[in-house]
Amino acid sequence: MRENYRDLRVAILGGGTVGAQVAHRLLEAGEELGQRSGAGLQLIGVAVRDLTAPRSTPIPADLLTTDAEALLVGADIVVELMGGIEPARTLILKALQSGADVITANKALLAEHGPELFAAAAKVGAQLYYEAAVAAAIPIIRPLRDSLAGDHVTKIMGIVNGTTNYILDEMDTKGLSFDEALSAASDLGYAEADPTADIEGYDAAQKACILSSLAFHTAVPLEDVHREGITGVTSAEMDAAKRSGHVIKLLAICERLVDPVTHREGVSTRVHPTLIPRTHPLAAAHGANNAVYVEAEAAGPLMFYGAGAGGLETASAVLGDIVSAARRHVVGGPGVGESTHADLPSIPLAHVNSRLQISVVVKDQPGVLAAIAGVFSDHDVSVETLHQSGAMGPEGSEQTATLVIQTHLASEARGQATIEALGKHPVVVSIAGVLRVEG
Ligand code: NAP
Repeated sequence: MRENYRDLRVAILGGGTVGAQVAHRLLEAGEELGQRSGAGLQLIGVAVRDLTAPRSTPIPADLLTTDAEALLVGADIVVELMGGIEPARTLILKALQSGADVITANKALLAEHGPELFAAAAKVGAQLYYEAAVAAAIPIIRPLRDSLAGDHVTKIMGIVNGTTNYILDEMDTKGLSFDEALSAASDLGYAEADPTADIEGYDAAQKACILSSLAFHTAVPLEDVHREGITGVTSAEMDAAKRSGHVIKLLAICERLVDPVTHREGVSTRVHPTLIPRTHPLAAAHGANNAVYVEAEAAGPLMFYGAGAGGLETASAVLGDIVSAARRHVVGGPGVGESTHADLPSIPLAHVNSRLQISVVVKDQPGVLAAIAGVFSDHDVSVETLHQSGAMGPEGSEQTATLVIQTHLASEARGQATIEALGKHPVVVSIAGVLRVEG
């Protein structure tokens, strides 16, 4: 520890799943963390809503307060672990304006108000750290921000939501239906009482927004992130994916591309259920784990894997940020702002080239295959594989069969036009599902 350097005052806003663990570790291992930082770390308080609420890890009563604003006064490092937009946003802005470094795990706030918060930090030379905001324990923010700062990241594919990975993994490995897998996730505490944010892809879209902005030096607005959830993924699609050597994962995909329509370089950020080959490194992310696969021009493919949630696991990333902030205080000088110099436009999904897996229920009658193939060729979309899962039994008075068709790369616009035309074709009973294929 640097001699005569004063202790740094750390305030934590939120003493829940993550906050209580961070407080506990700071109290328990503060001296050692101080040795690593070069300055002592003094926890001055933990702001909560309810002083009497039970805590998974006890926090000494004299450290708890309901006055979050008062706690900011005199803090050198403020750790925001309340979640939500307000009052977290206002408190972070106040902390930054007072010159404190701020650490947050709040992906929702960063995705919606990141540029405002980064600008506030830059204005006073403070630093905003957020390693825990994406994939919790997995170090991914610092590698993108620092380790790969000299390289050119071209693509990120991330499994960044543990709940949906658990559900899809249960469907794949145990043959459960979506509803059965969701219920198993709820029983294990992986799914919230209202699972919408996870299963509809909102949580993953916020993380995709953060990753895309960071990797491509561009402030990507959350509304530019295309989002689809996993509620429509069926057991039949799981089986079809398996047959073709794939597994279905909810992926956050961030890609730097030349827009085929405008011919300008831009960024595509999208979240949707995706077929990836079973041999792809991401296919090995089982259960509620997260994984982020990064492709960079010089470094090549890189894979980051581990726990994407959990109080203790997330606390690891937050504590790493606390040590970094403390080191910065000891060394002095202004914080390093977010780099948005590339300022690339967002590429709409319709311009992106995709491979599709389309499941079509058709009348089981002669000439159907030729008719379906004709629809694809009419739209200049070439078919890579076609699998017929056999007669499905009577639907109304007619026999039906399901065709699962995987296409070669084609523009989303052509793909969607093909699906629309299939839906109107007289031999088609229904479109049972559409998924994208990567890798
Ligand atoms: P949590 O268990 O719900 O805890 C939230 C804490 O904030 C509680 O202690 C609550 O007080 C306090 N709080 C909320 N509103 C407040 C207010 N207006 N004034 C004062 N205190 C307030 O949340 P968490 O799971 O620890 O998550 C914290 C943050 O980490 C979120 O941004 C989350 O997205 C992020 N994160 C969480 C995980 C994870 O695995 N849990 C992983 C990665 C990132 P009471 O205790 O009195 O109710």
